[in-house]
Amino acid sequence: MSSQLTHVTIQDGWFREVSEGSFPGQAMRLRVKQILHVEQSPFQDILVFESTDYGNVLVLDGIVQVSERDEFSYQEMISHLPLFAHSNPKRVLVIGGGDGGVLREVVKHDSVEEATLVEIDEGVIHLSKKYLPHMAKGFDHPKVNVVITDGFEFLNKLSQAPTSEKYDVIITDSSDPDGPAEMFFQQRYFKLLHDAIKEDGIIITQASENVWLKIQNLKTLMHDARQIFPVVELSSCTCPTYTSGQLALMICSKKADDDVKVPKRVLSKMKERELFRYYNSRLHEASFILPTFAEKILVDE
Ligand code: SAM
Repeated sequence: MSSQLTHVTIQDGWFREVSEGSFPGQAMRLRVKQILHVEQSPFQDILVFESTDYGNVLVLDGIVQVSERDEFSYQEMISHLPLFAHSNPKRVLVIGGGDGGVLREVVKHDSVEEATLVEIDEGVIHLSKKYLPHMAKGFDHPKVNVVITDGFEFLNKLSQAPTSEKYDVIITDSSDPDGPAEMFFQQRYFKLLHDAIKEDGIIITQASENVWLKIQNLKTLMHDARQIFPVVELSSCTCPTYTSGQLALMICSKKADDDVKVPKRVLSKMKERELFRYYNSRLHEASFILPTFAEKILVDE
């Protein structure tokens, strides 16, 4: 059980996430209890290990995707922000998301009739079923369809589809741009997303960065999205196992007067506590408030 990358990322019993390109001069570490799986798939280097304090951890190309302890913050925010910003989401598409956690959240909405997940690497799904069962239970729901193919190609084919095949919400739960997810951070992908949703459709994508890391990349991403969508907003979630503890989420609407910052449907506090561990309607609105330095760069300049 070995791969070149694993030798580099695990040393002296500690996993180290290092990327001079994305976060120069800093690193995130987790103590390893045992390595569970190492594989070079046709698409990426896959590592699953058990950590001493964060449960099982899935790593792709050296970058942490999810840990059992804190995954719910990211999965809930990337799912419920667009779903509650929509008045009646019925058809939902997830691009990536091979761990199943986003599907688990999407099917909590009674209005959702169909949730399709398009994942390029079947290996991630198999390993998640084995080592991340609390996330992978999303695959078992009767409303869920899984398609194994490249998400960009899937959307490309969909661009000529009739309105009945378009989606209410599309969630891009991809890995970072260095690898098979590179296309998801480009303007032509936003155009495909735009064409694949209905007139009141909403999309959300993990932005790979946050306000502390490469804020200029976030600015470029939002600028590119604004060439395609009339509404582009930035939210974020806290998640300790992502380097610097935060991940930005970009949400866009096709309707010019749509306020995605305010949920269109609000559950009772009791229901929220029954369904969610991180998301609630107060946090939905608050998550869009940017610190002053970030607001200056991302909104004013
Ligand atoms: N929460 C994660 C994060 O941002 O750190 C993302 C989790 S999910 C595991 C990311 C998934 O996107 C991976 O399973 C990967 O295989 C998939 N993926 C990457 N490129 C893809 C593509 N071109 N088409 C479909 N899925 C893709």
